[in-house]
Amino acid sequence: MSLSQTYYEATSSSYAGRHGLAHDIDTEVCVIGAGFAGLWTARALQKRHKDVVLIERDTVAGAASGRNGGFVSAGFNQSLSKIIDRVGIDHARALYRLSRMGVEIVREETLLHFPGANLVPGYLRASYDDDAEATKRSAAWYLKEFDHDLEYWPVERVREVLRTEQYYQGLHEKDAFHIHPRNLAIALAETIERAGGRIYENTGAVDADLDGVRKTVTTPRGKVRAEQVVFATNAFPGAEFSGLQRTILPVATYLGVTKPLGEQLAAAIRYAGCIQDDRNSFNYYRVLGDRLLWGAGISVDLQEPSDLGGWLPRRIASVYPQLEGVGMESVWSGIMGFAVHRMPQIGMLKPGAWIASAFGGQGLNTTAMAGELIASAITEKDDRWRLFIPFGLVWAGGWLGRAYAQSGWWSRTMRDRVDAIRRKSPKVA
Ligand SMILES: Cc1cc2nc3c(=O)[nH]c(=O)nc-3n(C[C@H](O)[C@H](O)[C@H](O)COP(=O)(O)OP(=O)(O)OC[C@H]3O[C@@H](n4cnc5c(N)ncnc54)[C@H](O)[C@@H]3O)c2cc1C
Repeated sequence: MSLSQTYYEATSSSYAGRHGLAHDIDTEVCVIGAGFAGLWTARALQKRHKDVVLIERDTVAGAASGRNGGFVSAGFNQSLSKIIDRVGIDHARALYRLSRMGVEIVREETLLHFPGANLVPGYLRASYDDDAEATKRSAAWYLKEFDHDLEYWPVERVREVLRTEQYYQGLHEKDAFHIHPRNLAIALAETIERAGGRIYENTGAVDADLDGVRKTVTTPRGKVRAEQVVFATNAFPGAEFSGLQRTILPVATYLGVTKPLGEQLAAAIRYAGCIQDDRNSFNYYRVLGDRLLWGAGISVDLQEPSDLGGWLPRRIASVYPQLEGVGMESVWSGIMGFAVHRMPQIGMLKPGAWIASAFGGQGLNTTAMAGELIASAITEKDDRWRLFIPFGLVWAGGWLGRAYAQSGWWSRTMRDRVDAIRRKSPKVA
């Protein structure tokens, strides 16, 4: 079993590495970080005829963007009810619309230009609680407040496709979908280069002079001079940018893909799209041919657990006892970047300097949205990014923040255990 290589690396398009920056260059916009936030920003800028240089400390999509689940859906990491509490319903509606715009950008671009990302539609959220009225109310709330038509699925319909007695009713998001994230990122990078953008790998920004009209980003072997600089650096901007680093809490999460399961899998799961359950420490998964992709868990301990290959099958069996003992072909972890408010950091740091970061576990729609907002702000003075001002850069709390986040995870896991005992169902963790 390979623990280091992800399923997405094993099945990705061929990847040509890029040279590092070794001299000084000039451009209109320098984007730091070549994950989805940097790539979508560069793409949106190019569509507006801007010259772009992308510098990446490691490799394109080598971090979260190439290692994630590939589930693309509306919304943010923070719950809508918490967002409403903070900014009110009208503001929350505007934010949610933007999050849906992000979904549509990824869909449109993927269908038109990136067939290798293999878009598969549909996202089913299954509930552990037998409460048809609550699920119907939730669907009605999305429709009334957010004009988003989520389909209510009764228990019989859920269990027809998900053969487990753990789940009851479900909500079906028809316009959400799954993609191969690494293939999408690789294709995006190639498209950016074909359009004249320059991407340098193994080129970490170690300093930035953001004062003055012309900014300078310093890397170990060359400088980039630009009118605008975008930090798309996610979990680890680096010690040199300690002001940004202090606002981000890096959190690990885990994924795995089983060995081929043949008929055993088809007998358990007959839904082709994304599936997620509503346990607080939720599972999210999808059938990939005759293998099963399964994601779960978070930790502020960034070391990959040695028992991941045993833990994920136990999670699978806790939902589908008929899949007990499945073998994993690959398991991996990835690092997400969170702000304390669990919303993305999007906006202007100072004139000509921008940030697109902290997308947490909901980055596939929100990075595309952020790229669009920043590119249109730079070129058209669009000020929709200001909707994110209430979610600014807040100190993430150092070790205290980590302890707090982990205690949240523990309490959620404990709640799940209590629920599981209440339902006399298997433990989850
Ligand atoms: C295991 C896992 C599963 C997930 N599943 C989903 C999912 O199913 N759906 C979903 O919507 N989201 C999911 N997410 C979240 C999503 O992957 C992220 O929110 C998103 O990829 C973040 O993109 P990014 O570009 O901000 O960050 P990253 O992909 O982390 O990219 C940031 C890049 O910046 C570079 N960088 C940082 N500092 C510097 C510097 N100083 N100089 C140069 N380069 C620098 C880094 O090397 C890195 O490559 C998941 C995340 C993980 C880890």
